[in-house]
Amino acid sequence: MAYVFDFEHKHRRPPMDMKDLLGGKGANLAEMTSVLRLPVPHGFTISTDACRAYMRDGWPEGLDVEVRRARNRLERKMEKRLGDPADPLLVSVRSGAKFSMPGMMDTVLNLGLNDESVIGLAKQTDDERFAYDSYRRFVSMYARIVLDVPAEELDALLEAAKELAGTTSDAGIPPELLRYLTDSYKQIVLRHTGKPFPQDPDEQLRGAIEAVFRSWNGARAVAYRRRERIPDDLGTAVNVQAMVFGNRDDRSGTGVGFTRDPATGARGEYGDFLVNAQGEDVVAGIRNTEPLSALKRRFPAIHRQLMDIFARLEHHYRDMCDTEFTIEQGKLWMLQTRVGKRTGRAALKMAVDMTKERSIALSRAEAVGRVTAEHIDQVLHPQFAGGGHKVIAKGLAASPGAAVGRVYFSADDALAASDRGEDVVLVRSETSPEDVHGMLAAKGILTARGGLVSHAAVVARGWGKPAVVGAEAVKIEGRSFRVGSVVVSEGDWISVDGSTGEVVSGRVELTQAEAPEELETLLGWADALRAGVLGVRANADTGPDAANARRLGAEGIGLCRTEHMFLGEDRLPIVRRMILAGSSEAEAEALEELRAAQKQDFVGILDEMDGLPVTVRLLDPPLHEFLPDTSELAVKEATVGLTDEERTLYTAALQWREANPMLGTRGVRLGVIKPGLYSMQVRALMEAAVERVEAGGHPVIEVMIPLTVGREEMALARGWVEDAVAEVVASGGDAGTGSATGSGARRRKRGRAGAAAGERGSLEVIIGTMIETPRAALRAAEIAEEAEFFSFGTNDLTQMTFGFSRDDVEGRMMQAYLDQGLLKRNPFETIDRDGVGELVGLATRRGRATRPDLKVGVCGEHGGDPESISLFEKAGLDYVSCSPFRVPIARLAAAQAVVASGRAARVGRATARAAAGRTGAGGRTRAGRGERTRAGAGGRSAGGRTASKRVAATRRAGAAKRSAVPRTPARGNRRTPARGNRRTPVR
Ligand code: PEP
Ligand code: MG
Repeated sequence: MAYVFDFEHKHRRPPMDMKDLLGGKGANLAEMTSVLRLPVPHGFTISTDACRAYMRDGWPEGLDVEVRRARNRLERKMEKRLGDPADPLLVSVRSGAKFSMPGMMDTVLNLGLNDESVIGLAKQTDDERFAYDSYRRFVSMYARIVLDVPAEELDALLEAAKELAGTTSDAGIPPELLRYLTDSYKQIVLRHTGKPFPQDPDEQLRGAIEAVFRSWNGARAVAYRRRERIPDDLGTAVNVQAMVFGNRDDRSGTGVGFTRDPATGARGEYGDFLVNAQGEDVVAGIRNTEPLSALKRRFPAIHRQLMDIFARLEHHYRDMCDTEFTIEQGKLWMLQTRVGKRTGRAALKMAVDMTKERSIALSRAEAVGRVTAEHIDQVLHPQFAGGGHKVIAKGLAASPGAAVGRVYFSADDALAASDRGEDVVLVRSETSPEDVHGMLAAKGILTARGGLVSHAAVVARGWGKPAVVGAEAVKIEGRSFRVGSVVVSEGDWISVDGSTGEVVSGRVELTQAEAPEELETLLGWADALRAGVLGVRANADTGPDAANARRLGAEGIGLCRTEHMFLGEDRLPIVRRMILAGSSEAEAEALEELRAAQKQDFVGILDEMDGLPVTVRLLDPPLHEFLPDTSELAVKEATVGLTDEERTLYTAALQWREANPMLGTRGVRLGVIKPGLYSMQVRALMEAAVERVEAGGHPVIEVMIPLTVGREEMALARGWVEDAVAEVVASGGDAGTGSATGSGARRRKRGRAGAAAGERGSLEVIIGTMIETPRAALRAAEIAEEAEFFSFGTNDLTQMTFGFSRDDVEGRMMQAYLDQGLLKRNPFETIDRDGVGELVGLATRRGRATRPDLKVGVCGEHGGDPESISLFEKAGLDYVSCSPFRVPIARLAAAQAVVASGRAARVGRATARAAAGRTGAGGRTRAGRGERTRAGAGGRSAGGRTASKRVAATRRAGAAKRSAVPRTPARGNRRTPARGNRRTPVR
């Protein structure tokens, strides 16, 4: 097997297509040398195949021979030999994985020097100091990296030498001291390894190559791969390259250059250089660098040549490039190039600009592919300014954006402080529905426990509030918390970054988010590309959230969690009355009160989402979540005693308590034991819909049954929904409004004036279910007989497929699973391709086998994760639904997935412009884009029943007044929830 390739090797494919084999750096070096014919110091690449073979079975057979031959070729080209006592060739040995891992693996410079060749180098360069400094650096680097000599011993000697020389800089050490220093390093090597420092260049080379292979599995590299989600089995390539020196004289220098500004995206070169310096000096910050514009003055010909190379690189790579160059005695050498990293702002500007530049001419699909979720996060949310903050703890990055505030430990205290005008970070061990007022008042949220789908994470994301959750190192003790020896007390400042999970003690300066104008343009292109293939909706529970979601480009609501409507201080007591009701009359009375309250919430949502589908999920969480925490009441009972009301609640809470609430009386099971509950919700919803129709609106409703496991259950629930729909439509809506007409629940309805489905003044209703249990996924074919749509609840589906408690495992054991490679990804963050993903694909296929036009979406948190979106696209889902603040990312990722699968709409300029216009700030998006809209499809039979329920109601002339946006249930009122209600969170 060939393991070694010269930079000018004639590969069958362009080197840039061979990053798997050559690594990123090697591929770029080969591309620059053999395709672009730029002045690159000669060298060769040892492939990732060799690294993988080494990791498997040790040093690969035949590699020695190949390396020796490559070395001979290199020596012939350079007309110098490694270790030559007269005029030695020196080489660098650097790692280069497929994905850039800056600073994570090892590099050895000046290889080839030994006790004899250093003398030759001194003579050749007429610079003894330079030669011995190079040798000193080489021995030190080699000792550390290849021979595992502790760096401290070597560093201590260097510091002593500087002190002796009376200097603070390396450059101030005289040659004789450098020689002494090198000899001392060699003594240390002998002591540590029992062998003298290797003088044979072949042995040196083999040692350095092996060290680079080993560094792939070094702690730094492994940690970096975890963070960047780079697979462990890729291995690294090794690049051996002839060294050139920018520190020879004043006709020499070194620099880094970008072909345009990586921070702003502005056109024109950007970078730094230093005269008479080596590469590390530019980044080390020891001397002040000069901007590239100064290069023009000092070395005009080199500057012209460099600018010409920059233009060729941009043209060739069709992207912004980042380069390293060296000038050796008046000759320019390109040492490295790669597509440059950039900020979010720059990424957007470059992507849009490059579609207009003739030499690059990006297509819109390519431009959309140039922007990542992180770029969008950066421009939409505030970030920590600069770097180097002292991070005291790290948790899960649950909701993006950074926040700074004073710490408070209870929701009430947080609210009170915010009312006094303070910026607040709410710190809790975990949150529950009773904390929502404090969460709302806080700038940011930090929890010590819980995962990415815990209450704190879900609620914070829904509101776009920065949150770090599951920071297990944070130990809360009363009104302070401790991380190791750091104590943070109530009122102290902390900063949290929900994009990275970092917690910093004190106030960190933030960069304010300010979306550049290119964002709308690019998202408009993304929308046009995915049109008709993959829609993007939002999870929203209130009118204002729905408005926000629509502003951000949501094409409907994929999940309205109606339990959030029951938590207000005005509603919780009614819910409790309903649970505690001693008679069916008392229960009906409580339900009636809830109906009236909930109707107003629905009116607000339907108004904001007029013309777009709204999926309303009937009540899901266990009823005991609406009751107080039994342990707190038990303590109270044993100490100060309970009031009569508390005693009643306590008894009820004990009665409803379950050992496994997430597997208990929740979802449709609630409906089974309290059928009046779901009927009440549907009546409230339909009355709201009728009110909207009367106001000239066009509600498009999808009633969703949660946690279904089979056909019979779904059929039963469907019956309740149909009956409630029929009842409301027959009565013409709320008492006295009477404009909608119809003749029964199981037939299609038309309004008096014959308004057709899809028109204003008409109403559409379909009934479907969440797929949240493995059984539901497996039995999808039969469930589809009763369901017109499926929505995958991948939070629960992940929980139930793995048997991982979604509230516990992320804080406790997820890290260990990731560290030990038992899981490649946190499955609550990125869909588990092989298990949960398989169930999603299978259920979609089985469901559509029964009902070919079954609408299928996803509303778990994975709906906003780009990698998961790509899987959902492949599985044939119609839409994804996510928190409103993830919607822009989902629009981008959905377009990228659709482009990758070859299903993208052809985007002409006009189409894209139209799309961009539609989604302008505050604009409303077209209904049903990205989904096979049901408008006008008519009722169809499945399993012998009318499957589609579409109700068209006449718009009453003159009644087109828009209804007022109702109060916001979960966030608008600062409620004081019943004390001690700490339980499994309502999501
Ligand atoms: C889900 O389980 O994925 C879901 C969306 O429902 P919830 O998070 O409310 O349980
Ligand atoms: Mg669920």
